[in-house]
Amino acid sequence: MTTENNNNTTGQHELILSHLARRDFWLFLPEPLEADFCRDQDRRAVDGFNSTIAAIALLYLGLGLALVVISGPGNLGFWPASYGVFMVLIATAWLLSVASLLSRHYQLVMAVLVTVAVAFALVHPSLIHDGTLYHLVHEGTIFVMVVVFLGLNLRLPWALVASLSGAAIAITITLVLSLKPDWHLSASTFLGGSMLGIVLRYRDERYLRRDYLHARLLTLDNERIQAMADQLERLSFLDGLTGLANRRYFDSSLDKAWRTCLRENAPLTVIMLDVDFFKPYNDEYGHQQGDQALRDLAATIAAQAVRPQDLVARYGGEEFVALLPWVDEASAGHMAERILKAVCDLKLPHSSSGCADYVTVSAGVATLIPKAELQPSSLVAAADEALYQAKRTGRNRWVRAASVSAQTASSTS
Ligand code: GH3
Ligand code: MG
Ligand code: MG
Repeated sequence: MTTENNNNTTGQHELILSHLARRDFWLFLPEPLEADFCRDQDRRAVDGFNSTIAAIALLYLGLGLALVVISGPGNLGFWPASYGVFMVLIATAWLLSVASLLSRHYQLVMAVLVTVAVAFALVHPSLIHDGTLYHLVHEGTIFVMVVVFLGLNLRLPWALVASLSGAAIAITITLVLSLKPDWHLSASTFLGGSMLGIVLRYRDERYLRRDYLHARLLTLDNERIQAMADQLERLSFLDGLTGLANRRYFDSSLDKAWRTCLRENAPLTVIMLDVDFFKPYNDEYGHQQGDQALRDLAATIAAQAVRPQDLVARYGGEEFVALLPWVDEASAGHMAERILKAVCDLKLPHSSSGCADYVTVSAGVATLIPKAELQPSSLVAAADEALYQAKRTGRNRWVRAASVSAQTASSTS
């Protein structure tokens, strides 16, 4: 996780905690939490709608049949037409959900459908004159408003705007067509249903937002724990002084590279490197400068092994190791020479070195195509043995491991 991500996470964490501690009646969350919450809710609303629309249509069909049975098929008057309008609205919502328009603009599309439904629910009673149906369709307004506020997952502002727009359209139609509504009954059923819906929806949305904040806190905590675990794992594989991979990481990489090269019948090279006369260097220039020299050497050696599969690690003390899969004997020799030359070119003064005026390294090079009967450690042991030979034969040179090849020595000096 980057520092910027970390700051964002911490910022959001504090924002959530401070919002959860508030005790006022304000419903909305501070941005960007509100936008995230809305996206999350819309996704759930669409899922909920898609999975219940068939049941809603069936229920509505059943309701229509029950009404026909209650009032008798001969007394329906205008009712079948108005029933059909609601059926068309339900079918339209269904079609829009299939066409995925609903999932992209759920609140807007649903609010438009609701506006039409509310307008019609309010005009409808003025068109009915039958005694039984007259009261039933008025009471139906309460049902419609409860569904608008609670059944469709419309957020409170959308539901409010849609129902007020529906009411305004209904009043306009009533006046234009000079209908004779029972204003008292219409207003009380509309307002009664709306008030019930608003109060319950407000309470639901408050709970939903708080649940969302708690879930978000959990996610943020998990992300932080995961980031810390990743960081710890990275640190456990890094050498603190040089920033190179450490011995532990080298060991696990050696195992992996060994298995890969064994499978692919490919050569694998290990170059062990040891700084020459480094104890005298520390004695002469001090431990701090010795540390700086190790950092410079680490960067120089690592810069020579640039393929993604190459690894340069600090093996311990003033020893480094290069792990080079798919590098054969000839390339391994070139690589060793390149490293020794790059170290020489650094020209770190070393007046108490027994082999040069500058800091130098010796190298042991071992290459083989892994065999099932051999262990990865045998390759390291061979490189180590060759390094010992390089030290014995004068330092500032590289030696190829005898057990891997008949050609044993070469020198850059
Ligand atoms: P040779 O050429 O045979 O390798 O001689 P050498 O002096 O390099 O080898 P020796 O094993 O006698 O000494 C290694 C020195 O490396 C001793 C130790 O103080 C130094 N050293 C090991 N790790 C560090 C480190 O992290 N920082 C510093 N400054 N010195 C270190
Ligand atoms: Mg050493
Ligand atoms: Mg040494």
